[in-house]
Amino acid sequence: MKVTEHLTKANGKTQFSFEILPPLKGQDIKSIFDNIDPLMEFNPPFIDVTYHREEYVFRELENGLLEKKVVKKRPGTVGICAAIQNKYQVDAIPHILCGGFTKEDTENFLIDLDFLGIQNVMALRGDAVKSETYFKPEKEGNQYASDLVTQVRRMNEGQYLDPDLQNSSKTDFCIGVAGYPEKHMEAPSLDSDIHFLKKKIKAGASYIVTQMFFDNKKYFEFVDKCRAEGITVPIIPGLKPIATKKQLNQIPHRFKVDIPDELIMSVVSCKDNTAVRQVGIDWCIAQSKELIKAKVPVLHYYSMGRSSNIKAVAEAVF
Ligand code: FAD
Repeated sequence: MKVTEHLTKANGKTQFSFEILPPLKGQDIKSIFDNIDPLMEFNPPFIDVTYHREEYVFRELENGLLEKKVVKKRPGTVGICAAIQNKYQVDAIPHILCGGFTKEDTENFLIDLDFLGIQNVMALRGDAVKSETYFKPEKEGNQYASDLVTQVRRMNEGQYLDPDLQNSSKTDFCIGVAGYPEKHMEAPSLDSDIHFLKKKIKAGASYIVTQMFFDNKKYFEFVDKCRAEGITVPIIPGLKPIATKKQLNQIPHRFKVDIPDELIMSVVSCKDNTAVRQVGIDWCIAQSKELIKAKVPVLHYYSMGRSSNIKAVAEAVF
């Protein structure tokens, strides 16, 4: 079922969902199921599975020269989506990227998803590869998420890349896109970022999932600004409980989001990461309860490979 249909069916009740990462290459799928199993009692209508593009690694050869290798550390997004739908009968949402894909690759990827009965996709640009400062699309690829949304929508209309394909089968994907309450790191301002967010909706996206935030005020202000700009689709908040002291530096650096001073001080005063984990859970519970009161459609949790703290939050709020 499509995300939009799940939201209609819920009739205003806030639902629980989460995002998982494919395991590192070499690990088996059991590690994923072990993370999903404890969360199934909260009846997620859908589960997101991230996509991880290739990375460049350099290996020193015996002669001292460096060999550049392209590796994918977390392959398996499509396989995991199929396995989730099969095992749990829950809709799995693969993330799809502009980065690393030509339009032809994207088309073939979408055909696989369609054949597997996957009805939702989260369309993203992706970040620059680690060795480059700025994002570079493939030569025949999509540059922005709005271009990718357009490609998916065209396939939903039966338009494939080859103009000679006649009477092509129409796909029927519901398309989600990313939104940033604290603006995307490259955007010169929040207003310009929202301008381009609107472009993604106009291109055919039906809902937005936000970057994580730790201050609900940022989410509420973002929703108000989006509505003022005429964006009417559901805006699903993304939440992550802080779990380690290290994350106080890692999260703002990696995701360009602020952590409120009160939360920082509570984490800093913890004697170990067991205490930090509890502080993170309590903060996330408080955020979740306030968001439910505000009647958000879904609370979407970033598991980042671990589900036990998400379960503790869900037990307190669902
Ligand atoms: P876009 O919407 O294309 O925006 C990128 C930047 O370009 C923004 O600054 C925007 O303001 C600007 N912009 C957009 N259109 C235009 C235009 N026409 N002209 C000029 N500027 C423009 N990354 C992964 O690699 N894998 C994942 O699975 C993944 N999942 C994610 C899930 C969520 C919910 C979120 C919030 C992010 C996720 N990301 C993931 C990270 C995402 O790929 C990065 O944040 C990326 O840098 C931007 O992606 P986007 O889709 O928001 O890009």
